[in-house]
Amino acid sequence: MSFAVAIGIDLGGTNLKVAAVDSTGRVLSSAQTATNPARGPEIVLAEMVDLSDRLLTQLNRTRAALIGVGVGAPGPLNQTAGTVVRAANLVGWNDVPIRDFLHKSLHVLVHLENDANAAAYGEFWVGDPKNRTDLVLLTLGTGVGAGIILGGQVLRGHFENAGELGHMIVNPEGPLCACGQRGCLEQYASGTSVTQRAQSELRGGAHSTLRQILHTQGTLNASDVSRCAQQSDPLSMRIWLETCMYLALACINIQHAFNPARIILGGGLSQAGEFLLHSVQNEFKNRFWKLGHDVPAIGLARLGYDAGAIGAAGLAWKNCTAGT
Ligand code: ADP
Ligand code: MG
Ligand code: ZN
Repeated sequence: MSFAVAIGIDLGGTNLKVAAVDSTGRVLSSAQTATNPARGPEIVLAEMVDLSDRLLTQLNRTRAALIGVGVGAPGPLNQTAGTVVRAANLVGWNDVPIRDFLHKSLHVLVHLENDANAAAYGEFWVGDPKNRTDLVLLTLGTGVGAGIILGGQVLRGHFENAGELGHMIVNPEGPLCACGQRGCLEQYASGTSVTQRAQSELRGGAHSTLRQILHTQGTLNASDVSRCAQQSDPLSMRIWLETCMYLALACINIQHAFNPARIILGGGLSQAGEFLLHSVQNEFKNRFWKLGHDVPAIGLARLGYDAGAIGAAGLAWKNCTAGT
């Protein structure tokens, strides 16, 4: 079976990533393109098929070498129907039959998974070797996604939406989230929220080196806030520490709910590296209960932007080859 490959697809609101992955998790070939969801699902799905075929051709393989396709897509998903029900960043995509389309086009088994769940499986499968255990991944990007791996399985839950930890409420009086709740983790720990809080403080007249940066660049992003916080700008430090505190609260709640050995921080915000990690670890240590010794190792993701596609391929290897 050394010739065999699985295709992993990571469907994002911004980027579409496709990778041909061997049974050990090695990426043999990959391609990325802008999703441009406004083109409509038919065109984007056709492109997935096209890119998959192109990767196989690059590898001198035919579809006969393909053991299955894994696809990570933004939720909520309907697993029974194999559809993307409605995704916040795929406007106009309603009940898109992604699994059947890929199955009919490529003639292989297709495993559909929530995108953050797929990324968590990727970190479990080929990330840090210490990750081959119960783990929770938080992806801190435009929003906050998460995936929970217990006993080597993705936790889906009865309604198949387990792991939407970005919508864990950490402050009942907090800002309104696009999901309709108030004070979701996403309102404090996404790159978007870090930037928005900084901008709103600046509008309120706060003194900060961020004001000059906003003036020069015309825009701010979370990396400006993390950089200025590291340079001891008081407003940036306050926002950064607040972000880390809410992340620590989330990690504590995660620990009590699932008791994983590892909690991993990924996504754009985790580019801040140790600066993020140390603050979250500190806040966690100070606030976690004093009754037990069930302290998880909180670490940084390893696979970066490839995690989703690799994990989706890993789920294809795991689920599409059963019984063969
Ligand atoms: P998505 O996958 O949702 O498109 P990403 O995971 O790429 O998002 O994350 C984008 C976010 O990460 C942006 O808000 C950006 O400002 C933030 N980001 C990127 N690099 C850094 C950094 N070094 N420090 C803090 N935030 C960062
Ligand atoms: Mg998830
Ligand atoms: Zn929410």
